[in-house]
Amino acid sequence: MKIVAVGRNYAEHARELGNEVPDEPVLFMKPESALVTGGAPFPYPAFSSDAHFEIEVVLRICRRASNLASGESAGVYDAMTVGIDFTARDVQSKLKAKGLPWEMAKAFDGSAILGEWVEVPAKGPIEFSLTKNGETVQQGTTADMLHGFDSLLHHVTRYFTLEPGDLVFTGTPAGVGPVVRGDLLEGFLEGEKLLTCEVR
Ligand code: ZN
Repeated sequence: MKIVAVGRNYAEHARELGNEVPDEPVLFMKPESALVTGGAPFPYPAFSSDAHFEIEVVLRICRRASNLASGESAGVYDAMTVGIDFTARDVQSKLKAKGLPWEMAKAFDGSAILGEWVEVPAKGPIEFSLTKNGETVQQGTTADMLHGFDSLLHHVTRYFTLEPGDLVFTGTPAGVGPVVRGDLLEGFLEGEKLLTCEVR
C-alpha cells in the first residue's frame, strides 16, 4: 500500500508557512513504514529538533482508480479518519531552500499516525481538530479545502493509480506546531475522538 498526501490544501496554512497558494495540489507520498496505528506512540526522529504535527482528514481507498474524471470519486473510498502528517520542519525548510524533494522530512518512520476508521459522513462539510495536552491547537472544516475530496482524487489519479488499502491524507488547516517528548495528541472528527498519540 501507499499513502498519498497533499500539501497546502488549506489557504491559511499555506500562508502561515509563507508559501504561495498553488493552483494544482502539491502531492507527495509516504511509504507503509511511515504508518503508526492502534494508538501507538510517535517515535520522535533523531535527525530533527522541530517535528510538527499536522492534523488531516484521511480517506481509505476501497477500489482501484486511475484518471478519475471530476465527479467520479463516489465509491472510491469507504472509510474516513483523522491522521497526523508528522513533518520534520527543520529538515523540510533546508530541502525546500535547495529545491530538493521532501521525503526525508515527510516520509520517515512513524510520520503517518492514523486514528480509528469510521464511516464516511453522509453530508459534508466535516469538522476536525487536534488537541495537545488537552488544549485545542488545530481546528478545521473540510469546507475550507482548496481541493475537496473529489477534486483531490481527480488530481491524484492523474499521476498515481490508487488501489484498495491506499490512504489519502487531504491536507492540514492552520495551527501546525512543534511537539516535545511526553506530549499527548488527540484527534477528533465530527466531535468524536478517533486518535490518541503520545510523543516518545
Ligand atoms: Zn500535511
